[in-house]
Amino acid sequence: MSEERAGSGSPTEKPGGGYHGILFVISSPSGGGKGTLIRRLLEAVPGVSYSVSWTTRGSRPGEIDGVNYHFVSTDEFERMRASGGFLEWAVVHGHLYGTARSVVEQDLSEGHDIILEIDVQGAASVRATMSSVVSVFILPPSFEVLRARLTARMTERPEELELRLRNARGEVEQYRHFDYLVLNDEVGRAAAQLASIVSAERARRERQEWVARRVLATFT
Ligand code: 5GP
Repeated sequence: MSEERAGSGSPTEKPGGGYHGILFVISSPSGGGKGTLIRRLLEAVPGVSYSVSWTTRGSRPGEIDGVNYHFVSTDEFERMRASGGFLEWAVVHGHLYGTARSVVEQDLSEGHDIILEIDVQGAASVRATMSSVVSVFILPPSFEVLRARLTARMTERPEELELRLRNARGEVEQYRHFDYLVLNDEVGRAAAQLASIVSAERARRERQEWVARRVLATFT
C-alpha cells in the first residue's frame, strides 16, 4: 500500500493513476470582464495554468508577446493551422485566434488544470472535440455596462469598438451551451464564484476516485 497521504490537497499531484487536469473554457463578449476575473483566479487558486493563444490581431499598448498572446502574421497562423497545431481556432471580430494543441495536451497530461479564454465559437469546437470540458460564460450585467466598459478601456478604434458591440448580442445568446454562468456585476463576488466553480469541479467524485481508492486501501 502507498505510504503517501491520501488527498494531500495539491491538484497538480500526480497520483500515478494517470490523473488528468481539468480543461476549463471561459467565454464572454468583449468587455465582459473575463480577463480581470481570470487574472484574479490565477492569483487566488494554485495549480491552474493559462493557455496563451495565438492571434493575428496587432498588440495593444502594454500587451506582451508570449504573455498576453503569441502575436503572429497571417502566414504563420495559417502554417500552424495547416499542420494541425491548433486545438481550435476561429475568426473573431475580423482577426484569427487559436489555441495551441500541444500546450493544452501536455498541461492536462501532467495533471494541471488549464484555462482557455476563448470566444463562443472556440468554446463550441472544444466541446465537440474534447471528451471532458467545463465551460463558463461570464455575463455582463447589461448591454449598457458592456458598452461603458469597452469604451472606458480605450483599447479599440471606434469602428472596432462598434463591431465588438454589434457581435455582443449573438455571443451572449450562446450562454445556454455553457455549464456555468457567472454574472459579472461585482468583480469581487464574480471572481469568488469563479474560484468556487474550479474548487467544486476538482471535488467531483469521478476526479477523486484515486483519493477514494487510496483511503479505502488503508481500511485493510
Ligand atoms: P481580444 O482581441 O479582445 O483579446 O479577444 C477577442 C476575442 O477573442 C475574445 O472573446 C477572446 O476570448 C477571443 N479569443 C482569444 N483567444 C482565442 C483563441 O485562442 N481562440 C478563440 N476561438 N478565441 C479567442
